[in-house]
Amino acid sequence: MKKIYTKPFIMKQTSGYMNKFGSIYQKNYRSNIAGVSIEDIVAKADSPVFVFDEKKIRQTYRNAQRDFSNRYPKFQFSWSYKTNYLDAICSIFHQEGSFAEVVSEFEYEKARRIGVPGNKIIYNGPFKPYNSLLIAFKENAMVHIDNFDELYEAEKAAREIGKKVKIGIRLNMDTGTYPQWSRFGFNLEDGSALNAVKRISKSESLILNGLHAHIGTFMLETNAYQMEVQKMISFMRDIQNNYNFLIEYLDFGGGFPSKNKLKGTYLPPEVSVPQISEYIEAITDVLLSELKPQEYPMVYLETGRALIDEAGYLITTIEGVKQLPHGSKSYIIDAGVNFLYTSTWYNYKCEVDRSVNGTPENTTVYGPLCMNIDVVLENVSLPPLTKGMRLILSPMGAYNVTQWMQFIRYRPAIVLITEDKKIEIIRRAEKLEDIITPERVPEHLSKFNL
Ligand SMILES: *Cc1c(COP(=O)(O)O)cnc(C)c1O
Repeated sequence: MKKIYTKPFIMKQTSGYMNKFGSIYQKNYRSNIAGVSIEDIVAKADSPVFVFDEKKIRQTYRNAQRDFSNRYPKFQFSWSYKTNYLDAICSIFHQEGSFAEVVSEFEYEKARRIGVPGNKIIYNGPFKPYNSLLIAFKENAMVHIDNFDELYEAEKAAREIGKKVKIGIRLNMDTGTYPQWSRFGFNLEDGSALNAVKRISKSESLILNGLHAHIGTFMLETNAYQMEVQKMISFMRDIQNNYNFLIEYLDFGGGFPSKNKLKGTYLPPEVSVPQISEYIEAITDVLLSELKPQEYPMVYLETGRALIDEAGYLITTIEGVKQLPHGSKSYIIDAGVNFLYTSTWYNYKCEVDRSVNGTPENTTVYGPLCMNIDVVLENVSLPPLTKGMRLILSPMGAYNVTQWMQFIRYRPAIVLITEDKKIEIIRRAEKLEDIITPERVPEHLSKFNL
């Protein structure tokens, strides 16, 4: 077979930076996910396709669960629905024993629908419609009040259902990392948290029994959690000494980072991102040194990203190869940024489905959307690839399959590789009916002649 001619080009190499002569291309190829070949997965669910590894989800969860409960006896995870609320994924976490953490009436309903009892749901978020408060109180969910208006609504709802209701409040505080997340909950330092406690102590129908905070996301400092725990324990003491409330639990939220590579960072995430166990150690160190065993409250964590990101992959296919006018190589793949909400912040790991020879080049990988912003990977070093080869992008498990949007193309299928290596479709690919079902055409627009 004759080789296809591609025109030669000169590429400027900037000294001092890593370039193709200065850094060695690692043969990044992956023939399977969790022991199932890429081709078998595509044969079953087409390309592109999101893939989740059940074994890895369970292992990550069990390790973290063990690390915490080995150090502190009263501990409970609560799965952050917005991180990934596919029924199958949530069910894995619930089978492992995790509660549900929801931030809207939709997520609350979704958790109830798959069988999570109300008293195993933590209901957070800055806006909880009145009706959803009524339901949450009736079902004994843990409701964390965000602001004074919501506190009055909660009081009204408790009166309406005619019983004394336990609530928690969300706090925000300075934990030494900036910008500070001060828009959620009551601030500790400026006294509004204490004012909320005073207000609740005057209420006939509300009882304060929990304190909650979620200080940020992708937090690279374990110290921030030490400060959070320290401050919440001392606030708990203030409350218990001065008001007639027993704080039964502290909920430290989520925010641990995953092993994804943030744009603009130099070191690989395996080096720069602390392990989950380091966060757990930081948190439990403070708990154990500050508290006597008889006063241990229940502790909740609402870890999202760190428990799921690395268990998710996206298989995509190269559909076009293009040399750009200035000479550099680019590929068009079948998955765009509308499925990849996190592409704004992350440089995904990119693996090819086979070992390919040839000099790697700096390459741009474009999605299939007719939109200039559809750039999936920039400056990725790849050997020469051809149409039909597959790229496997990761970590993909957190925040993509909830924040993705249907735009220009149908959203693809999502599969789960089970522990015995079966390929289970957990969300089928979208079809035209899925998109048009909620639409309605008024009578006067129902006909046209072209
Ligand atoms: C989003 C969210 C979480 C999970 O955050 P991660 O950064 O994914 O761990 C936990 N708690 C609350 C209140 C949240 O809003």
